This record gives sequence, C-alpha cells and structure tokens, in this order.
Amino acid sequence: MAMVPDGSTEVLLSARGVVKSYWKGRNEVPVLQGADLDLDRGEMLAIMGASGSGKSTLLHILGLLDEPDTGEVHLAGERIDALADRRRDTLRNHAFGFIFQFYHLLPELSALENVLVPQWIRHGPIAYWRHRPRLRREAQDLLERVGLGHRMTHRPAELSGGEMQRAAIARALAADPIVLLADEPTGNLDATSGQGVLDLLRDLNRERGLTMIVVTHDPNIAQQADRVVRLAEGRVEEWSPALA
Ligand code: ADP
Ligand code: MG
Repeated sequence: MAMVPDGSTEVLLSARGVVKSYWKGRNEVPVLQGADLDLDRGEMLAIMGASGSGKSTLLHILGLLDEPDTGEVHLAGERIDALADRRRDTLRNHAFGFIFQFYHLLPELSALENVLVPQWIRHGPIAYWRHRPRLRREAQDLLERVGLGHRMTHRPAELSGGEMQRAAIARALAADPIVLLADEPTGNLDATSGQGVLDLLRDLNRERGLTMIVVTHDPNIAQQADRVVRLAEGRVEEWSPALA
C-alpha cells in the first residue's frame, strides 16, 4: 500500500464499470463486463486470470491503447478514456510505460538505440538531436541499472530472452512513466530468467516508488506483488493465495 504524507493511500489509476466486447461477425463476444480496479500510487499489483479472460484488454484500456465501450478510466483523478486523439496519444506516451511478453524490440537496432526510440518519438527529431548527449547518457545509465551495461551495442538477436526483456524495461523507463504496465513479462522466459526480471521490477518499484501492474498467469510471480486481483467473467475480484 502506498502512503501519502497524511498516512492514507492515494488512488493513482482506476477503472470504473469498464465494459468491452469484440465482434466476431454478428456475434458479440463480451470480454469485460463491468470491471472495477483501483491502483494505488506506488503499488505493485498483479492481475491473474485464465487465458482469454481479458487481462490484456483491461491493461490496454488502462494504458490508453484501447477504449472501453462504456465505463471510465481515471489517472490521478482526471478522466482519461474519452480524450481527443492527440491529447490521448501525448498522455499515453508520457504517462505509461509498456512491457510485453515478446519484448517488441526493433531487431535492426542495438539495445541502446531501442531504449532511445521513445525519446525520439517524444521529442521529435530536432529536439532529440539537440539533447542527444544527455538522452544517450540517461539511456546508458538505465541499461546499466537493468544489468545490461555490457550489452549496449548488441542487437536483440544477440541477447537472451531475459536480456531482451531487461532492454524492454529500460526502454519503458526512459520515458519516465507514471505507471508501468507489464503484460506477461515473464511469460516467454524460463523460471530463472523470469524470476530475475520480476526481481528487477520489484526493485524498481521499491527504489523509485514506481507504480506498476504485472499481468501474469503464474501464481508464484503474482504472489510477489503487493496485491493480487483476478479477472473472471469480465470482472475484477480480489485474490489471495488461500483461494488458489
Ligand atoms: P487475456 O490477455 O486474458 O488472455 P485478452 O484480453 O487478450 O485475454 O482477450 C480476451 C478475449 O477477447 C479473448 O476471447 C480474445 O479472443 C478476444 N479478443 C481480444 N482482442 C481481440 C480483437 N482485437 N478482436 C477480437 N477479439 C479479441
Ligand atoms: Mg493476454
């Protein structure tokens, strides 16, 4: 639980009554059917749930990669799900960092260049080149922090799965996000590298107070978060290991 100075907790990101369906031809496939979620500032939350239960859909809606059919998303008290496109894109780039199961690194770029991509997008080419020395230093520091100081010029194909995910984490941090959204970040890794990635996320949460959601179907991973919820029948329910 994240504490604000008066000792209470502060909700940073919330979903209220989120409904989302997909259409397969004429058939409506309901995915989220009134999902409510509160994420406290500084909290590390795990979301579990069976395959197809809507975990990625919820994460995408929270991070403005997708829109709910009905319901609302709030960040720091401001409604963010119904913004105009440009405002929405800007807010997404500034507020959210994403990590995916398959890393989504650009194969032609080195680890360092991959970390710099969001800065290029965020600043635009002119400001990027003006600030390039500082941005490169920051990207190098981040790669050192995630344990890839010796892999900066390697391309993704020359990295292990765990190393690729660490590079993706450094890339997500480069934009200094308010919330980190990780979709099955250990799902493609062996147990040891997966635990290493989880340890890194846990440390980043503790040392920077970085608020994060980790989607996983692995209860061992989930139990290391501050709190675990489960998606079932389109809704979010509290989960505790005793229920497993
Ligand atoms: P999870 O991440 O928990 O495995 P998802 O959120 O990816 O679940 O998907 C939930 C359901 O929505 C699944 O039945 C999936 O097939 C369906 N779905 C997800 N994305 C789309 C899409 N773009 N078009 C149609 N159906 C989709
Ligand atoms: Mg998914």
